Order: sequence, then structure tokens, then C-alpha cells
Amino acid sequence: MTGSTLSPTERTRVRLHPERAVYDREVMYRILDEALVCHVGVVVDGAPRVLPTAIVRIGDFAYIHGSPANQSLAALAAGAPACITVTLIDSIVAGRSGFGMSMDYRSVMIFAAAEKIVDPGEKERLVAAFIEDICPGHQVRAPKPKEIAATLFVRFPLTEASVKIRNQGVVDPEEDYRLDTWSGVIPLQLTAGEPRNCSALKHGIAVPDYAKNYRRGR
Ligand SMILES: Cc1cc2nc3c(=O)[nH]c(=O)nc-3n(C[C@H](O)[C@H](O)[C@H](O)COP(=O)(O)OP(=O)(O)OC[C@H]3O[C@@H](n4cnc5c(N)ncnc54)[C@H](O)[C@@H]3O)c2cc1C
Repeated sequence: MTGSTLSPTERTRVRLHPERAVYDREVMYRILDEALVCHVGVVVDGAPRVLPTAIVRIGDFAYIHGSPANQSLAALAAGAPACITVTLIDSIVAGRSGFGMSMDYRSVMIFAAAEKIVDPGEKERLVAAFIEDICPGHQVRAPKPKEIAATLFVRFPLTEASVKIRNQGVVDPEEDYRLDTWSGVIPLQLTAGEPRNCSALKHGIAVPDYAKNYRRGR
């Protein structure tokens, strides 16, 4: 069982800007839960690939899914080691030089080998978990057995992982603070727009509140 602290390994100890490392499992969970997508790095046929894909965290595992024809997923399901990153960008940091330009962010890196989910009942629960994570409150019909059979789910244990957070704003050399140029932070966030009905929507179905009020993040 994993504790509340992320114990750094030789691979996950943050060396560059170690003051930005956060070895707190709850902080990692919050980043993973806010993210809609991750990037999964895996070697396929001798060459690296990075797969952007939806991610859901349940307990101490991160789950991804897709078609069995997805080559990256198939390699992962066959045991290829993965490196997964999740990135949330909080601000553009506009410094007074090219070197002073930056971003404030929260990011996670996970090293793990995948475990394939085979039980159809668990796969069905994962379908529900992905829906609830991506669009909380959304109601869908039950998945068909052939849809479940045609979907590959894998999970990664969150045992070897790191969190790095930059939350510093502008950090310029002292002499640059005298320059007559604007410098500061431009906060960024993911905001939902006005929902648009499906063009084939049955007459009389109102836009639900969860769609009108969708929000993600802090
Ligand atoms: C939005 C964003 C933009 C960035 N832009 C740049 C850029 O332009 N140039 C640049 O050099 N760097 C950038 N970084 C930082 C970059 O991700 C690396 O942290 C940094 O380059 C150090 O790499 P390294 O391999 O020397 O890290 P090391 O400190 O040697 O890495 C050791 C271990 O620390 C952990 N680690 C390292 N980086 C991260 C991370 N970001 N998140 C979680 N764990 C981590 C991993 O477990 C890794 O194996 C950016 C990060 C983010 C999130």
C-alpha cells in the first residue's frame, strides 16, 4: 500500500529546480483529477511514441483506454514500460528577456508498466468512471457487450511518480527590474463555452445544468 508521501526513486527525484518538487500524493491526485488528458510515452517497434489520451484516476491507479488496434495501447498491454505526463498550465510568465519568459504550471510524471483490465464488469465500471470524470452528471445508455469487448483498458500503479510545480511568477535578474518594459503574469484557465445541441437531438430535450455550468479546475 502506498502512503501519503511520494517516495522519490533514482528516476523520480527532481534534480533541476528541486525546490519545485512536491512529494505529496494528494497534490498529485488533484493534478491528475483536474487533467482531461495525459501524454503516454512508450516505445513501439523500437521507436518512441507519445500518445495524447484521456486519463482517469481511481485510487492509486491511472486508467487509459482505447481501441485494441491502437498500437501504443497494444504495446503497453503487452508490458512495454511507460512514462506518462500530465500538464496543467496556470499562467504565462512574461519576463523582461527571452530567458525570463516562462510558465507557471503543475505537472506529474509517472513511470509504470501497464496492467490490462480483462474483467467485463470492471470494464463497464470504467466506462462509467470515464464519463463521470470527463462530463460529471452526463447520462448515457448502457454499454453493449460488443463495445466493452472492443475496448482495451489498462491501468498504471501510481507508485513511482513525481510532481513539479512552478508558482513563482516573474523571476528576472535584478538589473532587468529597471527596464521600461511591462512584465507580469497572465493567468490561464480552461473555460467552457455555451453548450450546442447535437444536430440530431430529439425535440423537446433541454440543455441540462451540468452542461450549462461545466467547469474544470480550481
Ligand atoms: C508547461 C511546462 C513548460 C516547460 N518548459 C520548459 C522549457 O521550455 N525548457 C525546459 O528546459 N524545461 C521546461 N519545463 C520543465 C521540464 O519539464 C523539466 O522539468 C526540466 O526541463 C528539467 O528536465 P530534466 O530532465 O533535467 O529533469 P530532472 O530534474 O533531471 O528530472 C528527474 C526527474 O524529475 C521528475 N521531473 C522532471 N521534470 C518534471 C516535470 N515537469 N513534472 C513532473 N516531474 C518532473 C521526473 O520524475 C524526472 O525523471 C517545462 C515544464 C512544464 C510543465
